[in-house]
Amino acid sequence: MKITSVKSHVLQYDMAEELGYSQQFYAKRSAHLVEVTTDEGITGWGECFGPGNVAIANKGIVERVIQPMVLGDDPLDRDVIWHKVYNLLRDHGQMGMPMQSLSGVDIALWDIAGKVAGMPLHKLIGGAHRSRVKAYGYGMMLKRESVLDHAARFRDEAAAIREKGFAAAKMKVGLGPREDVELCKAVRQGVGDGFRFMVDANHCYTTSDAFYVGRALEELGAYWFEEPVAPEDLDGYRELRAGLKVNIAGGEAEFNRWRWRQILENRGLDIAQPEVCAIGGISEYLRILALSHAHFTPVINHVWGSAIAMATNLQLLAAMPSLPGGMFPWEPLLEFDTTENKFRDDLLDDPLNVQQQVKSSNGYVEVPQGPGIGAEPDLDFLKHYEIDV
Ligand code: CA
Repeated sequence: MKITSVKSHVLQYDMAEELGYSQQFYAKRSAHLVEVTTDEGITGWGECFGPGNVAIANKGIVERVIQPMVLGDDPLDRDVIWHKVYNLLRDHGQMGMPMQSLSGVDIALWDIAGKVAGMPLHKLIGGAHRSRVKAYGYGMMLKRESVLDHAARFRDEAAAIREKGFAAAKMKVGLGPREDVELCKAVRQGVGDGFRFMVDANHCYTTSDAFYVGRALEELGAYWFEEPVAPEDLDGYRELRAGLKVNIAGGEAEFNRWRWRQILENRGLDIAQPEVCAIGGISEYLRILALSHAHFTPVINHVWGSAIAMATNLQLLAAMPSLPGGMFPWEPLLEFDTTENKFRDDLLDDPLNVQQQVKSSNGYVEVPQGPGIGAEPDLDFLKHYEIDV
């Protein structure tokens, strides 16, 4: 079998309302899908992390840099292809956009492997440790409104996420440490005592501000504190983990096994959050999962993007061994963005219907059983939202 093309599809639409996190507001929803075709008629789908203009630039890397390196190769030689592309790009990008681009191609190659074998991805990896995964809902995004309005809205949204059946709720912060603590108190009120909630700072704090917010989170019993400081700040991560009772989570902005080795050896994470659509794809994800478990660091995948990314992550969460194991083991969660997203809800011929499943199954989502990643995009839908770049 030979690879005959590697195409990028950048999808985009204007959102009904702007949403924000600690770094910026955004008004467009986008997704970057990768389609790998073969001379035997089997097509694989993957996805690259990175919105808007990043997706447009990554399309250039996928089609103009990676495609010429792999045309004519056997798509089943995915590990050979991964190392060929990585080695040829090493001088130009061991992290960031080249790795996001390679990720989409690698996921598509695994999809092809599953389709050739007639097996879902989790079976190809080694089987399902669980057939369904509990989902947590994130929302509570920033808007251009006062702290008081944020707090009132966050309280209501937190209660609504619990009401919808999610196993936990995750909020954004980023208005400033004192203001953020008010938002966290509102979310605790909204979800009620005992329910898990998490706080995502998207690396907006200094270490001392992160300690200030983190001490409030200890009092409020938050489950984890995500990306409190810049990903480059390994010392900050280590000090926060040693000094706070709340779990420290992070890793979505990290790439490749060599960087993850440093992060894990640094002992700054209670929970690792690798992003399969950025980290280097499924091939690199599996290596980093093994490395994380070798450090006894539990993994909860970072999930962002379309139904292709969602299906891929459900497969990977199914195939993740328990750490360390037991009758009632610690279980990973599926991250789910509760804000409106057509590319997640309406992209597939056979939709995943995550929200409906969460509502009817006490927070659980079934792992797709079709071959490969178990998700086929509706090509008319794809054509409708694809932008010409
Ligand atoms: Ca995050």
